[in-house]
Amino acid sequence: MSISKSHTGGKDNPLLQYVVNHSLREHPALAKLRLRTMEHPSNIMMVACEQSQFMANMAKLIKTKKALEIGVYTGYNTLSIALALPDDGVLVACDISEEYANIGKPFWNEAGVEQKIDLRIQPALQTLDDLLTSGQAETFDFAFIDADKVNYDNYYEKCLLLLRKGGIIAIDNVLWGGKVVDASSGDADTVAIDKLNKKLHRDTRVNLSMLMVGDGLTLAIKL
Ligand code: SAM
Ligand code: CA
Repeated sequence: MSISKSHTGGKDNPLLQYVVNHSLREHPALAKLRLRTMEHPSNIMMVACEQSQFMANMAKLIKTKKALEIGVYTGYNTLSIALALPDDGVLVACDISEEYANIGKPFWNEAGVEQKIDLRIQPALQTLDDLLTSGQAETFDFAFIDADKVNYDNYYEKCLLLLRKGGIIAIDNVLWGGKVVDASSGDADTVAIDKLNKKLHRDTRVNLSMLMVGDGLTLAIKL
């Protein structure tokens, strides 16, 4: 398969192509959803597939039963995480676009994991507040933040409340195509991502790694 143009390394990176060719193990429904998503005009938004596999492995490693995804798009990563959950696991998947999620649903069904996906179509902040007010603080194992960048810090703070100790928050696009290197003249998205990166560097509530995977992936592990 060909690597997507959304990777940090760019689509003509032979080493990244090697990584994908020698490590990607896609479920057949995931492969089909990737190809279907590539036909969509906003396909640049799809997560890098080797990154999605890495996050599914992380979720498995910490025995995730309850997960959160903020920003579903066509649900490639939603499916990847749902496949990593046990039969009684649940993934609360947040997006404002039913239209995007509808593209993924047939593939969730094909993989037989649709019953694990609790799709909530409304602003993600509302869903996170709903989870908090219904007494679900400290019950989630894993969260993936990948929606509107200006709300990243709000998502991070609410996810931190919802996660148990030892839970992982994965934050996507933390390098923002390299724009974070000089964020001063940047747009609101760049400024928001850079501000959160700086805050996380000093945040003693978590252990931290920033990885050059995809467009930059931060892992914050709740202490
Ligand atoms: N995680 C997805 C994947 O694995 O392919 C990609 C997500 S895409 C980069 C960002 C998504 O965030 C879009 O589907 C968009 O509709 C959604 N979004 C934007 N603003 C939102 C909000 N306030 N609440 C929830 N979702 C939002
Ligand atoms: Ca992303």
